[in-house]
Amino acid sequence: MSIASRDSIPDPRGLLGWLWRNYLRKRTGLLLLAMVFMAIEGSMFGMLSYMMKPMFDQVLVGGNAGALVWVAGAIFGIFAFRAVASVTQKVLLTRVSQLTTQDIRQDLLAHLMRLDGSFHQVHAPGHLMQRIEGDVGAVNKVWQTLITGAGRDVVALFTLFGVAISVDWRWTAAALVGVPLLVAPAMILQRFVRGNARISRDISAGLSTRLNEVFHGIVPVKLNQLERYQYKRYRTMTRDRNRIDLRSAFGQAAIPGLIDLMSGVGFVVVLIYGGSEIISGEKTVGDTMAFFTALGLAFEPLRRLGAFSGVWQVAAASIERIKELLDITPELVDPADPKPAPAGVPRIALEDVRLDYGDTPVLRGASFVAEAGQTTALVGASGAGKSTVFNVLTRLVDVQSGRVTLDGTGVAEMTLADLRGLFSVVSQESLLFDETLEENILLGQTDVDPERMQAALDAAHVSDFLPRLPEGLKSPVGPRGSNLSGGQRQRVAIARAILRDTPVLLLDEATSALDAQSEAVVQSALDTLSEGRTTLVIAHRLATVRRAHKIVVMDNGRVVDEGTHDELLARGGVYADLHRLQFSED
Ligand code: ADP
Repeated sequence: MSIASRDSIPDPRGLLGWLWRNYLRKRTGLLLLAMVFMAIEGSMFGMLSYMMKPMFDQVLVGGNAGALVWVAGAIFGIFAFRAVASVTQKVLLTRVSQLTTQDIRQDLLAHLMRLDGSFHQVHAPGHLMQRIEGDVGAVNKVWQTLITGAGRDVVALFTLFGVAISVDWRWTAAALVGVPLLVAPAMILQRFVRGNARISRDISAGLSTRLNEVFHGIVPVKLNQLERYQYKRYRTMTRDRNRIDLRSAFGQAAIPGLIDLMSGVGFVVVLIYGGSEIISGEKTVGDTMAFFTALGLAFEPLRRLGAFSGVWQVAAASIERIKELLDITPELVDPADPKPAPAGVPRIALEDVRLDYGDTPVLRGASFVAEAGQTTALVGASGAGKSTVFNVLTRLVDVQSGRVTLDGTGVAEMTLADLRGLFSVVSQESLLFDETLEENILLGQTDVDPERMQAALDAAHVSDFLPRLPEGLKSPVGPRGSNLSGGQRQRVAIARAILRDTPVLLLDEATSALDAQSEAVVQSALDTLSEGRTTLVIAHRLATVRRAHKIVVMDNGRVVDEGTHDELLARGGVYADLHRLQFSED
C-alpha cells in the first residue's frame, strides 16, 4: 500500500491523458471557448506581420496616401481585437484552472480520508498536506503559463509561419535549419528539470512534515531546548531545496535559451541565403519586411513555448505524485452485500480474535463479551492490546482471524458508516478543532434544538465552566482545544457524545491526568452518559473498575481473566498485580 517507486518515470503523455480523462474533459465547453479566443488572439500576430506588406509597398514605398487610412485602421482594429480576445481567454482559462485545481484538491482530500490507518501511519500529515497544497499548486502553474498565452502562442506561430511561407517557403525552411540541433539538448533538459522537480517536491514534503511536527510539539520543543536543532534542520533542508530549485530553474531557462540560439542561426542563414534576392530587388521591401516581422514576432512565442515545456515537466512530477496517491485503494471498505446495523443497544463479542501489525502479533486469540447496556472495563498493562480492541471494534483495522460482532452481526458485515454510527468515543486526547465551542460540540449537526443542547451541556458539566468563557458557546477553543483545560476538553467530548446519542460508548482513560475535582465532575458526566448504553472503558482508575459490571483483564494480546473487582482480587494473578501497580486510590 505504499507509494510506487519514484524511480519509474511514467510517460508524460500518459499523465496528460489521465489529467484530461479525470479533470479536463468535463470542462470541454469552457476550454473550447477559451481556445476560440486564443486562436483569435494568436492569429492577430500573423495579421500584423501581414499588414507590413501593404504598409511598406503601398504607403511607405508606394506613397499611396489613400491606403494610409485603411492600413492604419486595420492595424488599430487588429490591436483592439487582440485586446478583447486576450482578456476573455484569460478569464476563461483562469476559471478552468480554478475548477480543476479545486476538483483535484477535493478528490485528494476525500480519497486520503478514506485510506486506511496503515497508510496514514507511514505518511506524515505534513507530507500529505504538501501533496494537496504544493503539488496541486505546481499543477496550477501549468495553467498560469497557459493563461499567459501558450495556446495563443501556438496559433500565433502557425499564422506567422503561414505568412513567412507565403512570402517564400525556401526562406522559411532556411530559417528553421537550426531546429534539429535543438531536439536532443531539449530532451535532456526536460528530463533534468523533471528529475529536479521531483526531488524538490520531496524536500518540500519533508519541510511541511517538519513544520507540522514542530508546531504540533511546540511544548516538547521548548522544554527540550530543541529550537536551535529544529531551526538548523529546517535551514539545511531549505538550502537543499534552493539548490535543487536553482538547477531546475536553470534547466527551465535553458530551453528558451536554446531557442534563442536556434532563432539566431535561422536569421543569419536567411540573411545570407536571401540577401542576393533582396539586393537584386527580386523581393519587394514589403515582402522582406513581412517575412522578417513574422520571424521576429515568432521569437517570443517560441521562447515562451520552450519555457512551457519546462513548466510542464515540473507539473508532470507533481501530477505523477497526485496520481500515485489517488491510485492507492483502501482495504477497509464496505462489504458488497451489507447487513443492517443492530437496531437496539448491542451486545459486543470478540471471539478468538487475532491481529498482527506486520510480524508483530498484537491480539492473539482474544475473546470476551460486553453485555448490552452494561459497563465493561478493559484492564491490562500498557501494550496489552486494549486500544487495539477499540480499533477492531470501530474497524480502523481488520482482524486476521476470529469474529468481532455486535448482536451477532460482524463489524465487517455492515457498512463503515453504519458501524461507526454506533459508537461514540471519549478519550483524554479528545480532538478539538480550532473552531468555537459550539461547533466543536455539534460537529456539523444542524438539527439540534436548544433544549437538547442545553441538556447535553448540563449533563456533561460544560455548563459549569461556560460562564467563565468570554463568549460562552461562541468562544474559540484554540488550536486542538488549547484554550481549555484537560478536564474541560473531556467534558466537551462528553457533550458531543451525548448529542451523538449512540448505543455504544468507548471510553479511554489511558492518559488520565485530571485533578480530583475535575475527575469527579467528569466521572459524574460519564455515568450519566453510559446509562442505557453498552460501554467499554479502558480503565486506569479504581473508581471505574469498581463501578464496572465486568472487568476484562488483558495480557499480551489475550484475555486472561474476567469478573468483578472483588472476584478478581480474590483470585490473585494478573489483576491483583495490576491493582497493586496501576490503580490509584482516588
Ligand atoms: P494498550 O492500549 O493495551 O496499551 P495497544 O492496543 O495500544 O495497547 O497496543 C498493543 C501492541 O500493539 C503494542 O505492543 C503496540 O506497540 C502495538 N501496536 C499498536 N498499534 C500498532 C501499529 N499501528 N503498528 C504496529 N504496532 C502497533
